[in-house]
Amino acid sequence: MAGTVRVRFAPSPTGALHIGGGHTALFNWLWARHNGGRFILRIEDTDRERSTKEYEETIMAGMEWLGLDWDEGPDRAGDFGPYRQSERLEIYHHWANRLLSEGSAYREGEAVIYRVPQGVSLAFDDVVYGHIEMMSDTLKDIVLIKSDGMPTYNYAVVVDDHTMAISHVIRGEDHISNTPKQLLLYRALQWEYPVFGHLPMILGKDKKKLSKRHGATSVYEYRDMGYMPDAMFNFLALLGWSAGEGNEVFSREEAAALFELSRVTKRSAIFDMEKLNHINQEHLKMLDPSTRLDLVEPFWREMGLPVDEHSREYLAQSLVVLGGRGQTAREAAGYSDYFVTFDAVKKRYDGSDIDEAQRATVRRYVRDLLACPEWKADLLEEFTRTWSTEQAVKMKEIAMPLRMALTGMKVSPGIFEVAEQIGREETKRRLAHYNLL
Ligand code: GLU
Repeated sequence: MAGTVRVRFAPSPTGALHIGGGHTALFNWLWARHNGGRFILRIEDTDRERSTKEYEETIMAGMEWLGLDWDEGPDRAGDFGPYRQSERLEIYHHWANRLLSEGSAYREGEAVIYRVPQGVSLAFDDVVYGHIEMMSDTLKDIVLIKSDGMPTYNYAVVVDDHTMAISHVIRGEDHISNTPKQLLLYRALQWEYPVFGHLPMILGKDKKKLSKRHGATSVYEYRDMGYMPDAMFNFLALLGWSAGEGNEVFSREEAAALFELSRVTKRSAIFDMEKLNHINQEHLKMLDPSTRLDLVEPFWREMGLPVDEHSREYLAQSLVVLGGRGQTAREAAGYSDYFVTFDAVKKRYDGSDIDEAQRATVRRYVRDLLACPEWKADLLEEFTRTWSTEQAVKMKEIAMPLRMALTGMKVSPGIFEVAEQIGREETKRRLAHYNLL
């Protein structure tokens, strides 16, 4: 057992998995995986009124979405269970009785309270925040068990971290102030302290504590907006840690290999949406076409596009043509709707910007273009260049109307690639609609 890294994520199931919770879970996961240790999920559900099974499930689903698999937990076998605090009441009572019988705790009605001794120096070396020390004199007596028989947070967390053989307690910096109380209880029970490492606070761009005002706060909302779990993982890992100069886009495995708890900074981390968007785009680009399609397709459906009229091959290839455009799957879906249906084009473009003189030129060009022997992007482009030189017509004058007719957008991937992808017949149909044939 000695030397085994055992870390835990200990959420209270009183809400969805928030950014802060996901961040804490992730750093624990990284440390476990870096060391070949164990990552434990413990549900801190002693607040019986606010804790629900549904929240427990959404937290687990959020962790799964992020790819943070745990080795022990309420739904996994393990030698240190149960992994829900509400199922560990006997254990808390056992140790509280021990403190009572030793005289270091007393009863007040049904409650059990620890009598804080005077003059004890409480010190620990936080892996992130450094040496922290205080005297016990400033602390009030600590409630261990409340009159309803439930343990308090500070007591249960000590009993659990010890009895679950937790080696490193990695959690948000908002718990630093609880740590001295917990140290006292470790001492009272004659248990060794684990290593503590508190994670920096996550702030919005305005340097205020991250909240609803800054946008989505639960991990799930990011999934629904079309962010990739790999990107979200990558982005959260960069809050307070760096994988090294210039190494901003990485996989879970790379992060786990490089992670060092001692390199976490105590400087508050800024939740920067632009950075998340950038990282998401980089991860989207790395996906193979079929996986990328799996991510984008639901958004096309949500937009009401007739996805089922096309083969998967066609749709996946359309996204290859789209290239790296779109920072999220939702954005990529919006930028590529014209591959799925001409209706989307018609809705945003009515062709009224083409004057008659231009129309005549475009028609001459289109007639020759549609007669090209082979419908291949590079050949179509070459043909167009030659045609524009020979006819002394600017490339832009013919390519822009073509782009507008095929996509309804001023900015798109190479228009000849779009033409090749939708095919000669569909190209013809769209041009005919705008009276360009
Ligand atoms: N249930 C506590 C929380 O959600 C756990 C804190 C800890 O990790 O000690 O904040």
